[in-house]
Amino acid sequence: MNGKVYLVGSGPGDPELLTIKAKRLIESAEVILYDQLPGKAILDMLPESAEKIDVGKYAGNHKLSQWQINELLVKRAKEGKIVLRLKGGDPYLFGRGGEEAQTLAAEGIKVEVVPGITSAIAVPAYAGIPITHRDYASMVTFITGHEDPDKEETALNWELLAKFEGTLVILMGVSMLERNVKELMKHGKSVDTPVAVIERGTRPDQRVTIGTLADIVGLCKQRKVKAPAVTVIGDVVKLHHELAP
Ligand code: SAH
Repeated sequence: MNGKVYLVGSGPGDPELLTIKAKRLIESAEVILYDQLPGKAILDMLPESAEKIDVGKYAGNHKLSQWQINELLVKRAKEGKIVLRLKGGDPYLFGRGGEEAQTLAAEGIKVEVVPGITSAIAVPAYAGIPITHRDYASMVTFITGHEDPDKEETALNWELLAKFEGTLVILMGVSMLERNVKELMKHGKSVDTPVAVIERGTRPDQRVTIGTLADIVGLCKQRKVKAPAVTVIGDVVKLHHELAP
């Protein structure tokens, strides 16, 4: 008899942002596949009794390929195990959770997704930035700043994004920040547009860098900004000064 796979979102790192369901499933899983994105506080909660596999897919530094992760999920489930695939934030936002679920479904393995609090919303929130606000933005777009390097052409329509009047939230955006900012300015986005880059959001060492499209690249270089970080572009960033804890 096949086991079952739970694709579980861990939230952005503050362990109190885990859902009750995620916590219960973590405590009872037989096999846990994880990477470093959930962060130390949450990884420290993984039970002794479970078989824990670090698939180490972190900031492009792959330990196991996505294909190998899929294989492993299928293998353990076919052994009849209750398998938990722990993913940072929400499994279905830029987490390749969709691909993992498809593989399992194709193999006839039961899979259940447990949504998590996404960093795309919670990380700006902890930095005092509501991603929408009636006075500043009524729309929001989530963007992957670092596309699959195997892709030949960019799927991002920078012309459209530069014209978009809502908030832009970029995930995986540190290594390509300069290109992305240049594309926006090239396509006419105002150089004064406020930008926030929030590293390790919701964790004890969270750090916020505030600038504009014109100066954010220099500021980030100077401060040696590193992944994981969420980039927020738009007038809502102005609220940081008022609302940051
Ligand atoms: N599924 C995840 C995103 C996976 S992509 C989610 O819903 O949050 C990985 C990217 O998430 C990172 O490059 C970074 O942009 C963002 N991220 C995740 N946790 C973060 C954190 N605590 N602080 C800042 N960025 C984070």
